[in-house]
Amino acid sequence: LSPKELLDFVFKRIKLYDPKINSFITLTEEYAYKVAESLRFDEMDSKPLWGIPVAIKDNMCFRGFKTTCSSKILENFIPIYTSTAVQRLIDAGAIIVGKTNLDEFAMGSSTENSAFFTTSNPWDLERVPGGSSGGSASAVAARFVPVATGSDTGGSIRQPASFCGVVGFKPTYGTVSRYGLVAFASSLDQIGPFGIKVKDVELAFRVMSGKDDMDSTSHPYKFIPVDKSIKEYKVGVIKELYEAEGFDAEVLNSLSNVIKLLKSENIYVDVCSLPHLKYSLPVYYLVATSEASSNLARFDGVRYGLRVKGKDINETFSKTRGQGFGSEVKRRIMLGTYALSSGYYDAYYLKASKVRTLIVNDFEKAFREYDFLICPTSPTTAFKKGDKTSDPLSMYLSDIATIPVNLAGLPGISIPSGCDNKGLPIGLQIIGKPFNDNELLNFADQLE
Ligand code: GLN
Repeated sequence: LSPKELLDFVFKRIKLYDPKINSFITLTEEYAYKVAESLRFDEMDSKPLWGIPVAIKDNMCFRGFKTTCSSKILENFIPIYTSTAVQRLIDAGAIIVGKTNLDEFAMGSSTENSAFFTTSNPWDLERVPGGSSGGSASAVAARFVPVATGSDTGGSIRQPASFCGVVGFKPTYGTVSRYGLVAFASSLDQIGPFGIKVKDVELAFRVMSGKDDMDSTSHPYKFIPVDKSIKEYKVGVIKELYEAEGFDAEVLNSLSNVIKLLKSENIYVDVCSLPHLKYSLPVYYLVATSEASSNLARFDGVRYGLRVKGKDINETFSKTRGQGFGSEVKRRIMLGTYALSSGYYDAYYLKASKVRTLIVNDFEKAFREYDFLICPTSPTTAFKKGDKTSDPLSMYLSDIATIPVNLAGLPGISIPSGCDNKGLPIGLQIIGKPFNDNELLNFADQLE
């Protein structure tokens, strides 16, 4: 099969099924065929992703193509540079086939906050694919592409992976450069891959990770393959996420099956408690909204995208933002500016930062005893479109198990662990020690 023949298959499949699923905002067909033609067979060994079609979440810049963040404010924005992570995929031989749908500025858990359209879950078109990287997760689940990129600030790779029955990996904070990723909450944002199998995400991660001079928070991470048996690891089951309210019986049942499986293989498993995890949601919604309110200040009608002219600069500013941002984005900007305003900073942002440290400490303590921590990726399987749109809090709750991992900057992966009685996929989350991404992937690969 040549790269061109593979692309014929990919675009045929997308054209046949994507009108129902709506994974893609933009297809880069002409570009893709040009790349396919230029790939040389003698580079096959040196380029690990040679000829592999890849989809990119539409909040990652790709030079010459629209990067909308699913927002009206960036509807016609064409970046003049490519994000480091995407460039590294291209340099490794990957062929970018399109940009995928998301919740506006990656704020949400269902893609229903996209200003353009909602993506459907390929397992049940009435249901959401999760979010915010729902377009990428559904594109892999529908087998349009074997690999896609996402960004994960509070669960946006792992939760949609869980809802769509694919693998989603959020690496340790800093291992993949954020250069060219439209910022949501900079201390939490992390780029990572979706794949059909753990080995797919491992390959994409190996290519994307490592130091980048364009991102001062990027880490000189070097992936070193490990060859260690799953039996040598100790596993902790997070009590707070096992016992918490809101977890479906079938989701918990799937977790019990995993525990039974580990025990039958003589792997050490025990329940472990992280008492401050119960504060994760309020901490996250203070830290993330505060950082978002500051990051989104750049959309002022002057530098990027939409401009709705008013009689002076102030009116232009407020009209542009008033018409350009959707309601969830506005809600977050308001919450964030409130939490950061003078007189409230100490009570909200500072307090949240302190509790964040307690959560980090809980993980550190747990990792003195265990190599990996496990829990369900999400309390439920994919919910119906419209079910949670009128109640933001219930939407926020779907990330209760993924958010603590971002607050602590840890690597976390979601792998399929069965399905419920409606045939909807359930995901298992495995959390690793910081910069121990290689062992986490080794463990997940053997468990898969
Ligand atoms: N659902 C969470 C939120 O709305 C997480 C989003 C994300 O990880 N980008 O903030």
